[in-house]
Amino acid sequence: MRLAPPLGIFGGTFDPIHYGHILPILEAAGKTNIQKIALMPCYIPSHKNPATASSEDRLKMVELVCADYPLFYPEPRELIRAKPTFSVDSLRELRTAMPNTPLCFFIGTDSLQNLFTWHNWPLLFALCHFVVCERTGEAVKDSSYKFDDSLGLPSPHSYSPELQTLLHKRQIFNPSVLHNTLAGHIYFADTQRLTVSSSKIRQQLFNNQSVDSFLPPKILDYIQQHKLYQPSTDFC
Ligand code: ATP
Repeated sequence: MRLAPPLGIFGGTFDPIHYGHILPILEAAGKTNIQKIALMPCYIPSHKNPATASSEDRLKMVELVCADYPLFYPEPRELIRAKPTFSVDSLRELRTAMPNTPLCFFIGTDSLQNLFTWHNWPLLFALCHFVVCERTGEAVKDSSYKFDDSLGLPSPHSYSPELQTLLHKRQIFNPSVLHNTLAGHIYFADTQRLTVSSSKIRQQLFNNQSVDSFLPPKILDYIQQHKLYQPSTDFC
C-alpha cells in the first residue's frame, strides 16, 4: 500500500508561541522532508492559572504564525473539545481520520525524557513516530535568544536506562523511514538549541523586560494590543 506524505503534529501550550517552537520545527521539517505540520495548542482550564492567556488568544497567536509560515496550519481540536485532553486521544482521532498517513509528533528533548509519564504512552508508538528537536535545560539569561552549539549532541548515556532501552528498539537514523511506515519510530533531528521558553517570556514581560528577540514581531504586537502577560496589579 502506498502511503500518503507524512503529517507533522506539534502540540504545546503555546503560551505564547515563540522562536524556540518555530525555528527548530522548521529545521527538523527540512531534515525529514515533512511538508505539513499541524500546530495543536492544548487546552488549559481557565481556573488553573489566571496569569496565562486564554485558549482564544493562544490560538490566535498560533494562527498568526501559520499565516507567515506555509509549512504550518492551526489544529484547534483540543481547544474545541474544551477539556484537558491526552495527546494519545488526539492522535487516535487523527489516525482514524488519516489511516494512510504517517503521523510524526514533534517534541523537544525535555518532552522525550518525560514520555514515560504521558498517558497510555506505549500506545503512542502504534499511532505515530516522534521527531525530536534539541532543547537545552538552561534558562534564558539575557534578552537575546542563543544558538548554543557548545553543548553538542545529546549523549544517549545521559538518558535514563528506560529511555535508552526504548531508543535501542525505536530509534531510526534515516528519515525516509518516517515516509515509509505509519508509526513506531523515533528520529533525532539534531536541530540547533535555542534557550527560550514561554515561561521565561511571561516572566520577562511581567518584569517589563524586553522579549523582542524571542518571538515574531506580530506575536509581540498581539500580546501588547491584548494586554497579555501584564504585570499584576493585585495587592493581597
Ligand atoms: P513553558 O515555559 O510555559 O513550559 P515551553 O516554552 O516549554 O512552555 P510548550 O508550549 O510547553 O513551551 O512546549 C511545547 C513543545 O515545544 C514541547 O515539546 C517542548 O519540548 C518544545 N519546546 C519549547 N521550547 C523549545 C525550545 N526552546 N527548543 C526546542 N523545543 C522547545
